[in-house]
Amino acid sequence: MENKKELRNWLDKMNLTHPLLIAGPCSAETEEQVLKTAHQLKNTDTNVFRAGIWKPRTRPGMFEGVGAIGLKWMQRAKEETGLLLTTEVANAAHVELALEHDIDIFWIGARTTVSPFNIQEIADALRGTDKIVLIKNPVNPDLSLWLGAVERIYKADIKNIGVIHRGFSTYQKSKYRNNPEWQLAIELQNKFPDLPMICDPSHIAGKRDMIFDVSQIALDLNFDGLMIETHPDPDNAWSDAAQQVTPNMLEKITQELKVRKEAGEGDEFKSSLQKLRTKIDEIDDRLLHLLSDRMRISEDIGRVKKSQNVAVLQTTRWNEILGKMILDGEKLGLSEEFVLRMFKAIHQESINKQAKILDS
Ligand code: PEP
Ligand code: MN
Repeated sequence: MENKKELRNWLDKMNLTHPLLIAGPCSAETEEQVLKTAHQLKNTDTNVFRAGIWKPRTRPGMFEGVGAIGLKWMQRAKEETGLLLTTEVANAAHVELALEHDIDIFWIGARTTVSPFNIQEIADALRGTDKIVLIKNPVNPDLSLWLGAVERIYKADIKNIGVIHRGFSTYQKSKYRNNPEWQLAIELQNKFPDLPMICDPSHIAGKRDMIFDVSQIALDLNFDGLMIETHPDPDNAWSDAAQQVTPNMLEKITQELKVRKEAGEGDEFKSSLQKLRTKIDEIDDRLLHLLSDRMRISEDIGRVKKSQNVAVLQTTRWNEILGKMILDGEKLGLSEEFVLRMFKAIHQESINKQAKILDS
């Protein structure tokens, strides 16, 4: 897929004065709840009303969505409020039903993006329509799986496409429900600058009090829109209760968010940015040289270990380094998470280098 300007036509046509805002409950629960939420959202910046009808739950026995009846409730919400509609589709039958009920935007969930079979089935069912399709990232941090899904939809002649970044699941403890791994989204943005990118802070955060901060980061990174789960009575929601906000809270969040311009103006702005960027480039260059020196020493250590047939991995020494670096890093204003990630990567590369020497 080349980078095509046409990918963002649908978004440009909406002529928005603020980032695209998709809001609505995680799940449609009752007709009353759907209509109440939609009416309350009508008075906010919301452009598109979302509700899950078929819910992909990780474990069986939980609420799995109201099914097709919910589409009727959504249709009524659209008639009464004028909001566009979006729901999650996971197979051809969902697509057929959603098409029959005039859904405007189809989103593909994280658990579906991991399966090329399902994506192909959805792509084939959508072929020949002019619907907008938003593809959530796969559950695991795999950029090519995400891109592959975008390509399958694109090849089915669907040109109104966007992606939704909802974070990635991780085995490690994290303050997020799904780790943002922003660099992955940035990589996708760099590859396809015209592919609209929407952030779903609700599923990244997992907690309502973190939604503002995650949304602000997304806007700072020039995302085109936000999808925020909104419920009139979040604590009693039938799914994802902890992360949903009321329409009132949503309004407060969107009013406080700062939308950044894509580029700055004026010579002074440009020259101060340029000076700072030059400094960064110099530091990056020094960092690379330092890392290269460090790896060369690792190789020397590998040679010493080889002479005595000693194993590469020395856990005690490694834990000492890590503990010290976290403490020192903190004093220097570096977060524990960053220091940990950086040194794990450095350590892994060191081990690879040493192992190569030992096996040579
Ligand atoms: C959702 O949007 O409610 C949902 C199930 O999302 P995800 O596919 O990101 O888990
Ligand atoms: Mn949800």
